[in-house]
This record gives sequence, structure tokens and C-alpha cells, in this order.
Amino acid sequence: MQINWQKEVEQRKEQLIKDTQRLLQIKSTLDEETATEEIPFGKGIKEALDFMLDLGEKDGFSVKNVDNYGAHLEMGHGEELLGILGHLDVVPEGEGWTTDPYSADIRDGRIYARGAMDDKGPTMAAYYAMKIVKDLGVDVNKRVRLILGTDEESDWRCMDHYFEKEETPTVGFVPDADFPIIYAEKGIADFTYEFNGSVHEGAEATLLSFSAGQRFNMVPEFAEAVVTSDSVEAGQWEERYSRYCEDHGLSGTFSAKEGTVTFTMDGISVHGMEPDLGVNAGLRLAEFLVTLPFIGDDERFLSFISQFCKESRGRELGVAYSDDITKDLTINYGILSYEHGGKGKIAFNMRYPVTFDFANGWSVLEKVASDHGFSIQMKTHLGPHHVDADSDLVKTLQKIYEEHTGQEAELLAIGGGTYARAIKNAVAFGPLFPGREDVAHQKDEYIIIEDMLKATAMYAQAIYDLTR
Ligand SMILES: [Zn+2]
Repeated sequence: MQINWQKEVEQRKEQLIKDTQRLLQIKSTLDEETATEEIPFGKGIKEALDFMLDLGEKDGFSVKNVDNYGAHLEMGHGEELLGILGHLDVVPEGEGWTTDPYSADIRDGRIYARGAMDDKGPTMAAYYAMKIVKDLGVDVNKRVRLILGTDEESDWRCMDHYFEKEETPTVGFVPDADFPIIYAEKGIADFTYEFNGSVHEGAEATLLSFSAGQRFNMVPEFAEAVVTSDSVEAGQWEERYSRYCEDHGLSGTFSAKEGTVTFTMDGISVHGMEPDLGVNAGLRLAEFLVTLPFIGDDERFLSFISQFCKESRGRELGVAYSDDITKDLTINYGILSYEHGGKGKIAFNMRYPVTFDFANGWSVLEKVASDHGFSIQMKTHLGPHHVDADSDLVKTLQKIYEEHTGQEAELLAIGGGTYARAIKNAVAFGPLFPGREDVAHQKDEYIIIEDMLKATAMYAQAIYDLTR
């Protein structure tokens, strides 16, 4: 049977836009204030979930709400299950919008709203894709489920709970990232190196405190260190520091008061998945301070940083690795802190290629720690995700993408994480087309209606082709 998917979508365009607007008008941010045991993420998210379930029921899908953590709408029959994962929660709207972020105004062929692109617009596109296949009455040989998450932007408690209770799809795609197809995602782990320092005397200089950064996965944008000195040398530090900053194109300050000197450094904060796009204020400040005459644990903290943490590929730590699928392992040193006579801490986010031997990497990191009197802890770990480029799933979606866009369906690998990780045989498929501005989490977030229609047509065909 030849079906013109784009035409089927065009015929339902008005209703698709209207339903998308209605869903976007619900403020579905995580709301701890109204959260209860029964509605774990608060009233707004519950309202969005109910909206989708009502819509699904009205259109004749079988629906199931899993304890208000997640839900699904289902059609078809068969042993196998095709899962499409979207999420209804949104990040807070923030400041600076041109119009109310929950009005879902249409301007210049775009719908403007928080969640338009991430991920309520695309979720509605996937819903209409299912509806079209259902309306056409074509036979499918699998069950097809639209799985609705509600805590993607925070802690993924939704999918953890949902998949504890419900079966995992055998195959799936996720409309919550980029077109053409993301088939590989790096492993992501957070670690801390720590030691308990002791007070010592007789030093020419003492590092009272050092601090930079607050989050594992962000490059620190500011660092500060407080130093005391009994020697005359302190007078020369100001000049040395300003020369250091000038030579390296950095911006730092120096202020001295009653035997105490405060150094600050400005960096450029970016997401930790590619630290080289930013400037790590903590590393740059430590690199200077290590040249001052510290001893004992002050010196240990700074020289560990300058020896092992100076770049983003883990070379000095001994874990550098790269593969053709996901490229370089990266490390972001997100939090650096030290108190004289107290704790020294280096917290970092590591993103590693899909073929990396993680257990071995961890033992290498442990050895560096123990050799230098640090302890190491792994705080979180998400394994890598990778679907074979020659799999039926990938080949099918590539063919669909090429037919609908006339462009080559290049396979993408990323350092971030998508919902596709929840299913072994799943890839991210849209909704952001190559060359389009990425407005997720930004003010004036929008979805281009034409793109949404095209995505809907591709999703409908994907459901059809993957259930042959
Ligand atoms: Zn999302």
C-alpha cells in the first residue's frame, strides 16, 4: 500500500496545531509545592498527563497511567512492542519572553511556548503519527506505545518507576533530540577525588581556601583563593599574577589586606560535555598558584591539579581514549575546593566513548588517587548507549529521513544523554532539523510548524514501516 504520509498530516493540520497549543498552555514544570505521594511531580505535570490520557481515550487508544509517574497510549497487537518515548515536563520558563511562555502564540509559522520543542510539541507529533496509522486502519504486527515521561528534565524518576512496572519495548525511537538519527551516546560518570588535609607551620605562604564551580557538568566560571604570607615575596605576586593573566588572555584580580591576599579568576562557563569550548577559572587559577612557595597539603592540592587536571582528555590521568563512533573521552573539572587544615576536593564529570573499558578506566583513576593520598568516589554513572548502524531500526529510519528530506541521513553520536538510553534498541530521531537554531531551554522557545508536520509524517511512516 502506498500512503502519502505528508498529505495525511496536512489533512489533520488544524487539529494537530490546536491540540499542541492546548498541551503547551499547561504549565507542566516540576512543582514540589503541590507534589504529594499520589502526584509525585505536582499539579501542572499531572494536568498535562491527564490531558494526553483523555485525548488518547477519546481517540480510541488503550491508555494506562502508571501511578502518575508516567503513562502510555497503546494500539496494535502482537508479541513485540514498539515504544516511542516523549516527555511532558518542561524546564522553568525563565525571564525575557516576548509573550507569555504558556500562551502558545503563533507568529511567523512558529508556535512559541516553553516546551514547544522540548518536548511537548514533538510528543504531540508522535501522538498524531500514531493516530494517523490508526485512522488508516492498516494492520500492524506489533503493539505500538507512546510512553509519556514526566520527570525527564530533573531526575528521570518517571522512567525508573515506569519500567519497574511495565515491559520494556523491543524497539523504539525518541523524538527529543536531533535529526537525522542519534545512534550513539557516551557513558557519563561523576567522580570526586578527596583528601583530608592537616595544618602545618613554617611555610612562606599558606593557602587558606580555594573554591571554583558548583556543578560536575558545568565549566566553573569563577574561582577565588585566599592566601597568607609572612615573607616579603607577596609584594611581587601582584605583578606576577597580572603578567600571568595578560600572557594567557585571562581576567583576574588581586587584592591585599593585612597579610591576606585574595586572588580571583574569571572563566567562561559552558556545558561540561565539551570543556574546551569554555575557560575553566579554577584550573587557570590553580596553574598560577602552584608557582607560589606553598608546602604540605596546600602544595599537594595545587600540584595534583596542575599535574593531572590541566586538560580535558584525561591524558595525564591515564584514561585518554577515542573511538570512531563517539570520538574523545572528555573530562570536566566542575568543582575544585580546598580549606587549609580541612578537605581538598576535585569533582569531575567524565564522558566516555561507547567502546571504552570503563572498569579498567576506573581502576586507573583509583590508582592515581591512592598514589597521591586521595580517595575516589563514583557519584553517578550512566552506561553508554549504542545501536548498530546496520540494524533494521537504523536502516529503516535512514530511508524514511532521506525520502522525506532529500538529505543524507547521517548518523550522529553525542556526549549528552537522551531518553533513548531507557531502551536497548532505540535511537533519538528528531525533532530538530540540521541547521535549525536549538531553542530548547531558552527564552522564546518555539517549534516551526512546517518542521513539526514533516516530523509527524516521518514518525507515522516509521510506525508503519517498523510494524511490517
Ligand atoms: Zn527533552
